Amino acid sequence: MTCDDAKLLIHAYLDDELDAGDSASVARHMDDCTACKARFDAYATLRKALSQPELYHRAPDALRQHWTATTAVPATTRRARRPRMPLSVAAAAGFVAALLLSGPAWLHLLRSGHTGDALVAEVVSGHVRSLQQQHLMDVVSTNQHTVKPWFEGKLDFAPRVKDLADEGFPLVGGRLDAVEGHSVAVLVYKRRLHVINLFQWPVETGAVSPQTATQEHGYTVIRWTDASMQYVAISDVNESDLRQFALAFQNDGSAAAAR
Ligand SMILES: [Zn+2]
Repeated sequence: MTCDDAKLLIHAYLDDELDAGDSASVARHMDDCTACKARFDAYATLRKALSQPELYHRAPDALRQHWTATTAVPATTRRARRPRMPLSVAAAAGFVAALLLSGPAWLHLLRSGHTGDALVAEVVSGHVRSLQQQHLMDVVSTNQHTVKPWFEGKLDFAPRVKDLADEGFPLVGGRLDAVEGHSVAVLVYKRRLHVINLFQWPVETGAVSPQTATQEHGYTVIRWTDASMQYVAISDVNESDLRQFALAFQNDGSAAAAR
């Protein structure tokens, strides 16, 4: 297990949500890695601090009475009365409840603070999941004419599929995944022994945006949009290789030949 793997699993480990194998792997890694052990200790301290009773306050009686009165009325009239509760109070209460009740969500805020980008965090999770759970591919094929039809009927859009073997990135298969609550297509490519996952889904804006690269948890993530699709490529190959991959995929000349 690498430090990057440990970083991704450490929150679930802390919450006792891992299976026995992963849990043992994280524990073993922390035996040998002071950095990850220190990270774990910091999160454990944080979680303990959040569970301190002095963080919890009894709501003022007026608010409690108002709340009781509001929630006691029949459902049919509740909707009409609800706006009388100050929205700021409702929002603050909801936020505090979410903060205090869900440790993992709280920690997730911290975690995604690396880039402040939830989308990148989701793609990283999808990528790691695909590598760890032997769920890399639903359809295994080096033939784009097999991969493309496989998605038909599984998605409400037709993903763009290209083989890039000539450019050094052979297509090896595809699968379905989810990003921001949508089903997305993932094409799986190889670069020597490395895996490249290319996520894609339709966008409505039609605003073409150029490649942007970020580093997250040791992975390179490159995003771009064309007129109709958002693309996110992720891999542990170096950034220049992944840029080369993204350019090859965007290249219209070979796209026309590949279609
Ligand atoms: Zn480590």
